[in-house]
Amino acid sequence: MTFEEKKEAYAELIVKMGAAVRKGQKVVVSCPVESYDFCRMVVRKAYEAGAEDVILKWTDDICSRMEYEYAPMSVFENFPEWTALERNTLAKNDAAFIHLTGSDPESLKGVDTAKVKAYYVAADAALKDYYHLQTTMGFKWTIAGVPTHAWAKKVFPELQEDVAVTKLWNAVFNTVRIGDGNAADAWMEHAKKLAEKAKKLTEWQFKSLHYENSIGTDFTVGLVKNHIWEGGADKDRVNGAPFFANMPTEEVFTMPDRLMAEGTLVASLPLSENGNLIENFTLKFKRGEVIDYSAEKGLETLKMILETDEGSRHLGECALVPYPAPVAEQGILFLDTLYDENAACHFALGACYETNLQGGAEMSEDELHAHGGNTSINHVDFMVGTKDLKITGTRWNGEKITVFENGKWAF
Ligand code: ZN
Ligand code: ZN
Repeated sequence: MTFEEKKEAYAELIVKMGAAVRKGQKVVVSCPVESYDFCRMVVRKAYEAGAEDVILKWTDDICSRMEYEYAPMSVFENFPEWTALERNTLAKNDAAFIHLTGSDPESLKGVDTAKVKAYYVAADAALKDYYHLQTTMGFKWTIAGVPTHAWAKKVFPELQEDVAVTKLWNAVFNTVRIGDGNAADAWMEHAKKLAEKAKKLTEWQFKSLHYENSIGTDFTVGLVKNHIWEGGADKDRVNGAPFFANMPTEEVFTMPDRLMAEGTLVASLPLSENGNLIENFTLKFKRGEVIDYSAEKGLETLKMILETDEGSRHLGECALVPYPAPVAEQGILFLDTLYDENAACHFALGACYETNLQGGAEMSEDELHAHGGNTSINHVDFMVGTKDLKITGTRWNGEKITVFENGKWAF
């Protein structure tokens, strides 16, 4: 396959597998302006798949940064009504959302974090319907990467910019299994394997998982009763159709009990959050809550995440990713959570996925809390998996089963 053929195949995979666009549907595509050529490919594939209309939303790191630098606080505190109406309406009417992302991981370095926080608080309230439908799979959505110059330069600082971009494109293709052979078939085969692991783990219904490795993690997390492990294809809650919310996806994940986490978790990869990098950080938990933390770099950003709201100091997702997955195998630090979270076992601080609990999607916030689920305006994944990670599951009857050994599935 030539480079251009790979791009075509990727665009097709995003439309057909990722968002699983169906006939007559409205499709929303957001994309960095810099990647307009790839965006056009995706738009064409969407129309060819039968989209009734494709709505474009351009994004740009540099203009976003300018907004944070120049616009007054009131702009961030007041999410525009018309924008919320548009997004919520499209979500309620079962549009498919394709988010093409490719950001400089430090695009917002040094900007006023209070403005960034104000924006997220306002957006969360204004887009409540949209976010609820998104986390409960009430419409189809997918996030896929598009290499931009600024991002590629951070991943491969030693390379000349154009070379770095091409290298990052090739790395992205590898993560979604585009190469020789039919990518869609390889993708479905992979999804099937993830679903099998999820099924087995759900059957075991572990009470807790214990994590240990040589970088200092010694940590126990409780799982909610009647939790569901998910992996592979997501299912549209409305019509059961499969789609993939993340491309790539290597994880099998479930719902931790927000009040049951004890011990020390050491991050194994840097975390890029809101245009800032957090490196070499450690979180200490007691009764499910982060009670102490440290970071060699980005401590302020970590503090902002943890202090967002009550739920942001508790866990909402527990995800297993064997080492090395095609993402990790390349030995590249993508500095983008979409990729790095699929390179290693991770947890998320903040909101849980309601679908990880039997009947969770139909529960009120209070009911979800009563079952151990977590709510927050944040959902921040951070990576803890290493080559030597061992995870031992304990069932309610006390039986112990090794889930991970030397960073890989032990069953
Ligand atoms: Zn995850
Ligand atoms: Zn997550």
